[in-house]
Amino acid sequence: MDSEINAGDDIFECRQCGDCCNGFGGTYVTEKDILNISAHIKFDPKQFIARYCDMSGSRHVLTLGKDGCCIFFDKEKQCTIHAVKPYMCKAWPFIQAVIEHPENWNAMSNSCPGMKKNIPHKDLAKIVAIEKNKLDKSIIR
Ligand code: SF4
Ligand code: SF4
Repeated sequence: MDSEINAGDDIFECRQCGDCCNGFGGTYVTEKDILNISAHIKFDPKQFIARYCDMSGSRHVLTLGKDGCCIFFDKEKQCTIHAVKPYMCKAWPFIQAVIEHPENWNAMSNSCPGMKKNIPHKDLAKIVAIEKNKLDKSIIR
């Protein structure tokens, strides 16, 4: 019998490998992310976009450094903007796309060794919704 799955910790534990900061897919930034990061690094938001963002379709993503990693990734320090990292980075892997389509989880887990595979879809949808809700509440105060 599988052990019980009740919380985010039961299905995900970050290994601090940095793989999610390395290229794949791009890191989307919301308008709020842009304002937060700009303030943190003391940049004007427009200058921040010009210097640190690219477009992916109609949305902004953080640009990549020459090493193919996020421009804010450092091999030793990992995320250099941890306190203000984008919503997408804070939420991973508890994201809306899994709530709507739990089958996305296994595909995502191929790029993230911290995600346990083959979690029953009913448990995934429930736990991801709880974790996402917790994050949203902590951000929108
Ligand atoms: S790829 Fe997954 S395990 Fe590795 S740092 Fe990113 S979230 Fe953590
Ligand atoms: S903002 Fe930080 S956590 Fe997000 S991809 Fe860049 S280095 Fe990684």
